[in-house]
Amino acid sequence: MKITIIGTGYVGLVTGLCFASVGHDVICLDNNKRKVKLLNSGKPTIYENNVSEYLEKNTKKKKIQFTSSYLKAIDHSDIIFIAVDTPPKKNGESDLSSLKDVCTSIARIAKKNLIIVQKSTVPVGTHKIIKNTIEKESRHSIKVKVVSNPEFLREGCAIDDFIKPDRIIIGTDDILLHEIFKEIYAPFNRKIDKIQFMDIRSAELTKYASNAMLATKISFINEIANIAEVIDADINLVRKGIGADSRIGHDFLYPGCGYGGSCFPKDLQSLIHNAKKKSYKPELLESVEKLNNKQKILPFVKIKNYFKNNIKDKKVAIWGLSFKPNTDDTRFAPSISIIDKLLKSGAIVFAYDPVASLSHLFGSFKGQYFEKKTSLSAINKVDALIICTEWKEFWSVNPRDIVKRMKSPVIFDGRNIYDEKLMTKSGVIYFSIGKKSPIS
Ligand code: NAD
Repeated sequence: MKITIIGTGYVGLVTGLCFASVGHDVICLDNNKRKVKLLNSGKPTIYENNVSEYLEKNTKKKKIQFTSSYLKAIDHSDIIFIAVDTPPKKNGESDLSSLKDVCTSIARIAKKNLIIVQKSTVPVGTHKIIKNTIEKESRHSIKVKVVSNPEFLREGCAIDDFIKPDRIIIGTDDILLHEIFKEIYAPFNRKIDKIQFMDIRSAELTKYASNAMLATKISFINEIANIAEVIDADINLVRKGIGADSRIGHDFLYPGCGYGGSCFPKDLQSLIHNAKKKSYKPELLESVEKLNNKQKILPFVKIKNYFKNNIKDKKVAIWGLSFKPNTDDTRFAPSISIIDKLLKSGAIVFAYDPVASLSHLFGSFKGQYFEKKTSLSAINKVDALIICTEWKEFWSVNPRDIVKRMKSPVIFDGRNIYDEKLMTKSGVIYFSIGKKSPIS
């Protein structure tokens, strides 16, 4: 089938590549001309497993093209997926300006009726905004049918998630559209039927409810970890103990310095905002968010206590800047909250991440913020190390190398990746999440 995708970021690019890989003819549009140029020259614009290979293969086969021309993109297909960003405003509300720009552009160009597929995560009811904007502003009086098809891929394994989805949610009030979506997704829906058709509003809410549930699980285990710390229990044992209950399961039960990323924080805020707009106070979700905001700066609070509130001029290494491993995405990453607090307290920060950078945010802290090329060079002569992201390359570091390089071998492990006994035996003062402080 011919498919157009508007917005070629993490979701749009992966969706386009996966559709192209199963034989659909895809055009991806982005208004960022630099991205389009890079993609047309075969260079991936995101760090993501298998994207390079998929890009090379499908461009060679001419199954995917990249453009900034709305004329070309709209002309290509009657089915337009929208995958633009929907970031949070200060008050938590979703900023739909990119989506509205897309609708206005479609209205200006399109000469035929279209099926518009919402892939972006948008508040319940947004389908009406899309339909009204396009139809009211249409120069050629076109009609559109809007379908909600929220995306559930995870950065770091996005292609895998897309081609082997747990479920494919299709929100539409038009039963005649079912066959089209069965056909589009047939290659990803072979063994068992994963497509769930539902009304549009329920589909829109399903995406928010999924992310809210996962965020709740994380904040729950973080709360238990914080309790374990103060009452001297071991969260790793507790985690295994509760995860063995099949009703609970082991997934998403890892304590740490909070969740970040472009989805959980913004989706939770948006859901809270929209519930309140309808006069419902979502107390559980508000607590989940509040706890996460506290958890994100826990390593900073611990380091401040350790140095008795005096961290001015202390040299602190940070391992991991992305919000999770295997991605270069730093949006709302805990590393940002921690580094911001450290720099504002006068510390000198040496950061290392295999692929991500925060120099766009902290580059102006001259003489105070440095990004290093290797993990070991970042810890030379530092007073402390904070681990913000559990990249695999950090797991196997020899504790003796750490002790040799650091001025004082103190680690604040925000992801609980090391064996406490091994670290302590090697001379490291090791703080983790959910275990009694080594100095209390
Ligand atoms: P992104 O910021 O990586 O990509 C958005 C793209 O849209 C950018 O390349 C931007 O240049 C482009 N764009 C913005 N306005 C445009 C316009 N008027 N015309 C053409 N292109 C335009 O965002 P993302 O991470 O891919 O997320 C997109 C949506 O998918 C969001 O609503 C997000 O919540 C949702 N989502 C994201 C993920 C994820 O893991 N990133 C997972 C599931 C759902």
